[in-house]
Amino acid sequence: MSIQAETLSFDPDALALKYRQERDKRVRPDGNNQYQEVVGEFAYFVEDPYIKETLKRDPLVDEVEVVIIGGGFGGLLAGARLREAGIHDFRIIEKGGDFGGTWYWNRYPGASCDIESYVYFPLLEKTQFVPKQKYTNAPETLEYCREIATHYELYGNALLQTEVRATDWDEDLGRWIVSTNRQDAIKARFVVHSNGPLNRPKLPAIKGINDFKGHTFHTSRWDYDYTGGNALGNLSNLADKRVAVIGTGATAVQCVPHLGAAAKALYVFQRTPSSIDVRNNQPTDPAWMAAQKPGWQEDRRRNFESIMTGAVVKEDLVSDGWTEAFRLLFGSIRDKAPSKLRLLGWAITGLADKKRYELGLKEYLTQKAALHMDLTRALELADFEKMEKVRARAASVVEDPETAEALKPYYRQFCKRPCFHDEYLPTFNRPNVTLVNTDGRGLDQITETGIVFDGVTYEVDCIIFATGFEVGTDYSRRAGYQITGRDGLTISEKWAKGLSTFHGMHTRGFPNAFFFGPAQSAFTATYTYSLDENSLHLAHILSQAKARGCERIEASAAAEEQWVQTIIEKARLTAEFQSQCTPGYYNNEGHVNVNPQNNTYGGGPIEFFALMKKWRSKGDLQGLELS
Ligand code: NDP
Repeated sequence: MSIQAETLSFDPDALALKYRQERDKRVRPDGNNQYQEVVGEFAYFVEDPYIKETLKRDPLVDEVEVVIIGGGFGGLLAGARLREAGIHDFRIIEKGGDFGGTWYWNRYPGASCDIESYVYFPLLEKTQFVPKQKYTNAPETLEYCREIATHYELYGNALLQTEVRATDWDEDLGRWIVSTNRQDAIKARFVVHSNGPLNRPKLPAIKGINDFKGHTFHTSRWDYDYTGGNALGNLSNLADKRVAVIGTGATAVQCVPHLGAAAKALYVFQRTPSSIDVRNNQPTDPAWMAAQKPGWQEDRRRNFESIMTGAVVKEDLVSDGWTEAFRLLFGSIRDKAPSKLRLLGWAITGLADKKRYELGLKEYLTQKAALHMDLTRALELADFEKMEKVRARAASVVEDPETAEALKPYYRQFCKRPCFHDEYLPTFNRPNVTLVNTDGRGLDQITETGIVFDGVTYEVDCIIFATGFEVGTDYSRRAGYQITGRDGLTISEKWAKGLSTFHGMHTRGFPNAFFFGPAQSAFTATYTYSLDENSLHLAHILSQAKARGCERIEASAAAEEQWVQTIIEKARLTAEFQSQCTPGYYNNEGHVNVNPQNNTYGGGPIEFFALMKKWRSKGDLQGLELS
């Protein structure tokens, strides 16, 4: 259904102005530098609180064909797909005490995934695992990671509790030397870097942050010894504690209801509110699952991601808050599409006659510009309408009008990670819970006993940082290790002025190294889908190399240059939208396209996957130098 400006229940111009004002007051010149790196005196924020017993073993100085760094879904999928391809000589190195990655670290109360489990859990048809609910929780996701590791016999290939410190290319040996915190020096022909895009916790660089004498931790290292309870809640030790949470992103939205239910007093420090839509979780119907036909999962996740990129599909298989948002957005412009075709028709029918053609072309270009404006406007109106509903929900659920107003997000829905939750907003009706709305500014100071904002000190026993993870910083800083390639060139040096890769996976000067992740590659809401595509791509290349007896793979300079140009070109498609968004890690903290090559593939994941499939089907590994 199209949205007509005349029938709107809101003033779009007033909203556009409000969005701009809200954005402008949040953009900071220091961008990513506003955050404190968790090193030195802050290093305790990243210690592993979950290891029961420290593993003891001798250093390894052996050799394997492939080292995979990271035992999250990326490492698991890489291992699984290599096994399927008949490549078994690999080792997965993981700093945590088990597989799981994100799900190993993020065990905070309420942690769960709001991407439907039937699309989020990869390899379901292989493992025959049946998730208990449409939206799974963190314990079940961690269990599923172990299930994949068991199913594909990956524990035998794992080096757990082992942190990579460096990978160095030895040109004479034609091998990578992988060094770890356990004095290992493992030789590997190939190295896969799958260290996670949201791996490194970040802290706000607030004055006095290290002065606090109470208890403190980051949500990705939850201290259950202090709070009591577990990932399902029941934080009984907090009954006599005053707790502060800093941040109101997707993580805070999930843990705040549990903190509100347990703490004597809870202060939620908000800089920007999240959009909170309906979640509506449901148990899995095993009969429905059993009735699915082979290939159902690939169809389902493709269907989901297609809707998310505005493609027309026959049916919305997932049918939830994500797909509804996109259907509303793109449905509103679809009935304008025939006129686009009509315009094209004019230009083509005019081709036979030069004068008619010129007239047709002129008309086409004018109309095309008008149509573009029309579509952009229609998208904006549909977004306003959706966000008005999200704001109305806050107003109807939260009793105190001032708090309700502060919880209303004023930006377009996909400027930040949308959240889906049914208990977050009601938590602010509890008498022990206070929202401290910093209105885009952030807190002023942390003292020995509490947090200062706007001249008021909030005395607390515990500060929990729900402040997210580093995204736009140097690759080796986020990975936690340096990569030194041919001729002593480090990855930090190579990418100092911007990313440069071939397909996001290879980078010249670093032979036999493979990179997983969304940089210069696909960005999907279902991140495991991208990782699975990465893994299939990796398995294809390594199988081909093996079949041809190749020992060395490196992107050609020309292929890499061309890919960087493609990324820059496609980045223009999303730049206008991104630059109007409130800052966050989605838009490089508001500093859009400073390095246009530091983007994901702007054509969207479905187009990217199709491109990679076509490249693989040619079978000639074009763009890679093999020897
Ligand atoms: P985010 O980066 O999304 O959120 C960090 C929060 O900290 C923001 O609210 C930010 O405010 C706030 N913040 C930063 N600095 C300050 C400051 N100085 N003062 C006050 N507040 C500050 O991290 P999350 O851990 O919440 O989420 C990271 C990602 O993990 C999500 O985007 C999502 O991809 C994934 N995730 C998914 C979940 C799901 O499936 N439901 C659940 C949890 C995480 P501001 O917005 O103003 O920058």
